[in-house]
Amino acid sequence: MRALLARAAELAADHRESLADRPVARAADPHVLRAGFGGPLPEAPSPPSEVLEELARAAEPGLVATAGPRFFGFVVGGALPAATAADVLAAGWDQNGFNAVLSPAAAAAEDVAGAWLKELLGLPATASAGFVTGGQSANTTGLAAARHHVLAEAGWDVERDGLTGAPRVRVVASEERHATIDRSLRLLGFGTRAVEPVAAGPQGAIDVADLERVLAAGSGPAIVCLQAGNVNTGACDDLRAAREAAGDAWLHVDGAFGLWAAANPATAALLDGVELADSWACDGHKWLNVPYDSGFVFCARPDVHAAAIAYRAAYLTGAGEVSGMGDLTLESSRRARGFAVWAALRELGRDGVAELVDRCCRLARRFAKALADGGAEIGNDVVLNQVLVSFGDDTDALTRKVQDDGTCWLGGTTWRGRRYLRISVSGWTTTEADVDRSAAAILRLAGQ
Ligand SMILES: *Cc1c(COP(=O)(O)O)cnc(C)c1O
Repeated sequence: MRALLARAAELAADHRESLADRPVARAADPHVLRAGFGGPLPEAPSPPSEVLEELARAAEPGLVATAGPRFFGFVVGGALPAATAADVLAAGWDQNGFNAVLSPAAAAAEDVAGAWLKELLGLPATASAGFVTGGQSANTTGLAAARHHVLAEAGWDVERDGLTGAPRVRVVASEERHATIDRSLRLLGFGTRAVEPVAAGPQGAIDVADLERVLAAGSGPAIVCLQAGNVNTGACDDLRAAREAAGDAWLHVDGAFGLWAAANPATAALLDGVELADSWACDGHKWLNVPYDSGFVFCARPDVHAAAIAYRAAYLTGAGEVSGMGDLTLESSRRARGFAVWAALRELGRDGVAELVDRCCRLARRFAKALADGGAEIGNDVVLNQVLVSFGDDTDALTRKVQDDGTCWLGGTTWRGRRYLRISVSGWTTTEADVDRSAAAILRLAGQ
């Protein structure tokens, strides 16, 4: 075991050390990759050391440098050193994050890291914190708490009786909501037709006057879905005004990456009023730069959170009492995610988190300026770490050229009916030199 884990760490470190110099992505032939992993199901056992070397060889041509300094696609960070090492330990320790009986250490780490997260993100100290797989799971869990609460208020026990025959629940959400909200609504039995869409302004933040109009047009139990950090523009809904407009509706905030703006004094005003919501979804594996998979769901009412999600596992502990962890996430047995989150927050501290968020925003502005100076059109106000870039009709062809070139990686998106290159600066390793080199490569390819 000792030699095997040391070798795994060495292989992982080799990969990390190569990230700044290797092409960000290579055109990997899926047939060749599958052949590397492939062949018939092995009949006989193999020595673990051979398995490890075989895995490293097979995977190498298909590894993307998402953890490197010039990956700007989707919204992707690269795990911090202490967080990466902590996750290696979590795998080595093989702790189950289900409850404090299975891992008192995992429970304590999540307890402390959860309190730190709430403080950094400007959320009430009394809120519950569940360590989930990511934004999708956080949205689903937060909306399950919402479903419990608004139906309980209407005299309906949805956990016992389901949705058949229940009072209709209104789901009021921005037309610019993330697609994971719709999947959560499908899974929770509301269906996507339950959504009463609200118009968004030019940057993608919710139009509060239209929110008032939509809410006034109906009645009954209501959930309002808001967003901090539009995936195209970085725009954040006006949470304070939306809270006032929403009355006693349940207010859920999808802040997968945008919630981190609250941790940086220079961007915190974008999240003014964030503490007034009822539930919040946030990612660790995006802007906090912890390993996959890692997200957080917070709920202002821990009793509601547990009522919607609790596992009721008293029979497993024999103690008639359940630890909070497994009662706050959709998984029962799971990886002890709190170790890596604790390590990232311990490594950065409050100042380091603020500096990371601020630096990414600054680099996004630098990127936008360099491209605009080179003739590109910037499609959004760069308020956070997201930049939309257009080169007119050539934009899609250019996206492919940039991806093939390998200097940096970015994806394409459609915003307000137009195609754009989308840049997200979310990783802790990106420097000004990386931005300048990437912008130069994009402009060179655009000029060809
Ligand atoms: C990324 C993202 C999600 C989904 O998060 P996952 O961690 O990929 O599940 C949800 N909402 C927003 C706004 C996002 O940016």
